[in-house]
Amino acid sequence: MAPARGGFLVGLVGSGIGTSLTPPLHEREADALGLRYLYRVLDLDTLGAHGIGEVVAAARLAGYDGLNVTHPVKQLVLDHLDELVPDAAAVGAVNTVVFTEAGAVGHNTDLTGFARALATGLPGVAMDTVVLLGAGGAGAAVGHALVSLGVQSLRIADLDHGRAERLADRILAAKAVRLDVPGLLDGADGLVHATPTGMVGHPGLPLPATALRPDLWVADIVYRPLETELLTVARAAGCRALDGGRMAVFQAADTFRIITGREPDADRMLRHFDEIARR
Ligand code: NAD
Repeated sequence: MAPARGGFLVGLVGSGIGTSLTPPLHEREADALGLRYLYRVLDLDTLGAHGIGEVVAAARLAGYDGLNVTHPVKQLVLDHLDELVPDAAAVGAVNTVVFTEAGAVGHNTDLTGFARALATGLPGVAMDTVVLLGAGGAGAAVGHALVSLGVQSLRIADLDHGRAERLADRILAAKAVRLDVPGLLDGADGLVHATPTGMVGHPGLPLPATALRPDLWVADIVYRPLETELLTVARAAGCRALDGGRMAVFQAADTFRIITGREPDADRMLRHFDEIARR
């Protein structure tokens, strides 16, 4: 997409996003490509009582080219869009909005970002049967990504079993399983963790360390910290393991491409992320 004013204006809308690493990822890559690019944080906690609909309308009026949308408005934003691309419609959530002549169009680059992260971060792993822990906004995108990568049987577990059931209903290859099912991981090739457990402020493990076996691969999408307790115990158990950094970078790269029409250098973004995430 050609920049209307010789540059791009992009925003991140969500709650508690003041320390997000997405703005520097976008801006540094734009600098490297010689683009004028301003990425602003629009924190719903400090914007006052404005709902996501008002923010989308105001951003469009103010000449924004696009928005990233994050917790807690990835689903609420759906009512305020003119069009959804098929990936976003399948997931039922949007993390990227681009303003085009057709209106506000919703995309989901959590899906594409996770798919690329897993394919490049754990190349060649078996994917017949995978367990997904967490059926929230990110879990929904990850579940669809796993099926797009060829997973035949997806077991979804969440503390809120109804949420796991609702997500499984939307994915043909999936079924909801109870968290306390003995043998949750029996016969599984991989485990993907998409709950907040292990994040800064939510320490701990989402399942007992003894459940892990060396022939299981483990992908955590939590990326603050990069090395979660789950990844530490998974590596100690001999599992191939992947942190959430790649997904964070590839979702940013995909959003950048959708908004600018320019191909970002994903390897350069990975190196930059590595620098800022470990500070
Ligand atoms: P969310 O609140 O929408 O969903 C979290 C889900 O996890 C809920 O359904 C909750 O019931 C469930 N849950 C919580 N603790 C659990 C446990 N111990 N066992 C089973 N289920 C449990 O959150 P979200 O937006 O889906 O985000 C989840 C995590 O993913 C966050 O840590 C977020 O930072 C991370 N994330 C990473 C990326 C990335 O690019 N790497 C992108 C998006 C989200």
